[in-house]
Amino acid sequence: TATGRELLRLDAVTMRFKGLTALREVSLSVGAGEIRGIVGPNGSGKTTLFNVISGLYQASQGTVSFADRHVHNLRPYRLSDLGLSRTFQNLRLFRELTVREHVMVGLDRTRPGWAWRYAIWPVGVWRAERRLGAQADELLDRYGLAGFAKATPYALPYGIQRRVELARAMAGEPRLLLLDEPAAGLNATEKAQLVEIVRSIRDHGTTVIIIEHDMGLVMSLCGKVTVLAAGQVIAEGAPADVAANPSVIEAYLGR
Ligand code: ADP
Repeated sequence: TATGRELLRLDAVTMRFKGLTALREVSLSVGAGEIRGIVGPNGSGKTTLFNVISGLYQASQGTVSFADRHVHNLRPYRLSDLGLSRTFQNLRLFRELTVREHVMVGLDRTRPGWAWRYAIWPVGVWRAERRLGAQADELLDRYGLAGFAKATPYALPYGIQRRVELARAMAGEPRLLLLDEPAAGLNATEKAQLVEIVRSIRDHGTTVIIIEHDMGLVMSLCGKVTVLAAGQVIAEGAPADVAANPSVIEAYLGR
């Protein structure tokens, strides 16, 4: 896989919660076009890392750069405007919205300029809605969700719910997508579909960082894997090399 220039960079990021250091001087460089895996035992700091990157947490120390700008002081919505999108370990879908509306929310979220157009030019409302709808339908097609457009997600199989979340995250055509355990709870068929979807996301120009426990999935998707243990990066490299690394094996067995 050809990867381009650096898109995301962390320099010596430390994250402390009261008495606990969840990340200790973590440095990371992810190139545009990568599918990077983040692995590590439970409690090793993987989700905290995503929370720092996406602006939910502010690092106690260190810097985060995204597309060559310092972003560690930015709020999540600003990072989203800059092209950073994420999913959560536990699904965060709306009970009352249809699948199509979920995607429309994702699209609208990325067009802040529409708020004032609604206010001063009523015809704009109708046009904007229509365009939003057309874009939503295109996304539903791309993620195999067209048949579920009018359903509310919690009535659907879990694998479909996961795909709704992914389609919503992709609505703004982000430059970087963070996936937090996207395969959790999926069956083998759904996992195979997920692999295809993540590959096509990358092929369409979005860089992906994926936290994943399923090593088979990591092996087939990721060019490079970063291993965290107790808040520190203990190994990085090709999945097969990392899996054979003695300190990685010890980190997994030692708990
Ligand atoms: P992982 O995703 O690898 O399982 P986490 O990043 O969720 O690990 O957690 C790393 C450590 O940081 C854990 O000990 C966890 O309890 C702690 N932690 C995470 N978020 C918070 C928080 N908001 N407040 C206090 N401790 C936290």
